[in-house]
Amino acid sequence: MKVFKFGGASINSVDRIKNTTRIIESYKGERLLIIISAMGKTTNALEKVVDAFYEGRKEDALQLFEQVKQAHLTTLKYLITVNWQQAENQLKDFFTEVEWLLHDKPVREYDYYYDQIVCCGELLSTSLVSSYLNEMGIKNKWLDVRDIVRTDDNFRDAYINWEFTSQKVKTDIEPLFTEFDIIITQGFIGATDENESTTLGREGSDFSAAIFANILDAENQTIWKDVEAVMNADPKEFPDAVNIDALSYREVVEMAYYGAQVIHPKTIKPLENKNIPLHVRCFLNPELPGTVISNKPVHNLPPVIVLKKNQVLMELSSKDFSFVEEKPLGLLHEMFASIKIRPNLSQNGAISLLNCFDDKSEKIEKLALAAAEIFNVQIEKNLTLLTIRHYTEEKIQTLTKGKTIVLEQKTPQTIQVLMR
Ligand code: ASP
Ligand code: MG
Repeated sequence: MKVFKFGGASINSVDRIKNTTRIIESYKGERLLIIISAMGKTTNALEKVVDAFYEGRKEDALQLFEQVKQAHLTTLKYLITVNWQQAENQLKDFFTEVEWLLHDKPVREYDYYYDQIVCCGELLSTSLVSSYLNEMGIKNKWLDVRDIVRTDDNFRDAYINWEFTSQKVKTDIEPLFTEFDIIITQGFIGATDENESTTLGREGSDFSAAIFANILDAENQTIWKDVEAVMNADPKEFPDAVNIDALSYREVVEMAYYGAQVIHPKTIKPLENKNIPLHVRCFLNPELPGTVISNKPVHNLPPVIVLKKNQVLMELSSKDFSFVEEKPLGLLHEMFASIKIRPNLSQNGAISLLNCFDDKSEKIEKLALAAAEIFNVQIEKNLTLLTIRHYTEEKIQTLTKGKTIVLEQKTPQTIQVLMR
């Protein structure tokens, strides 16, 4: 069997849903487990609902949610004519779940409400697509993934309970394939043992798909995107970016680590562990081969470029000119852990430490305040971090031209340059 994941852009209009359905149809006779994201920008829209609700703006929250409802109901109206009543009822059950909650007052933490509300995006999109497939005579089984994927209650970044989830997949999903070739379910969401909804972090459905691929020993996983393939750079920043046909798991993990927005960083491990190839393909042009990610080493890759803007450099120096030794270093790493901040680049000197972070103002302020107990703290903002894997001297020259280099680190594979 194969695992497919369709992103939000693949179903953001009636035409796109029809297109996605044609792709699914072309795999007739094969067993597919299909994960579908929330439609278009629904997750962002739902985040606004959560904000309004949590700030006590109940009317705004309901109004914003109404827009999400209407978008789905309108799509349904264009897609489904025969069994529309049944399809609409299913959507309405999810609407009601959220609306009940919106009529309450927030008494728990923000992240809890976030997950209870935002999870409906994928429930709505998948039930819509499942109904449309039925309408088209394509037999499929829709599942609420919250009955399968068990997590802890670390809301918004929930941790998977693999043991429970594997068991559930084996008892509740595997047998379904004797009756259905196509199973449709959600990514990104799960539930606690108390039946509270949870989410796995933004863009988490690539990871969900990999969890299923791992447990079901899938032949492969395909992520259907609106790009032709994984590229060596963001084409919006670098018009000469090129497609890459093949990558190793290791390369993708490295790319994600340095900030390339290719695939959710947690996706690779469950696939690598069972040696399941990951395909990235274009739903706009399914004829194209896309990119294959596997355990095969790939040689002669073009320079892979990742640009991270809005970087902050924090220089921490000892207050009395003493060496920065294990103790202050240890304390600093404890601060990183408790504030949940990770440097993108670090360099240690005799009496100072340099750390570069994404500019998440609140966290940076917290860290600066805590660090000021033991160090003198200096901060510079608005820097850009350039990472090039498989660099060439020429590439470094072109990309750093006219910039002031604040910090540079180099290994035989990777160069990182922090620039002003
Ligand atoms: N819908 C969620 C998001 O946009 C999860 C996903 O698509 O992977 O982040
Ligand atoms: Mg998405």
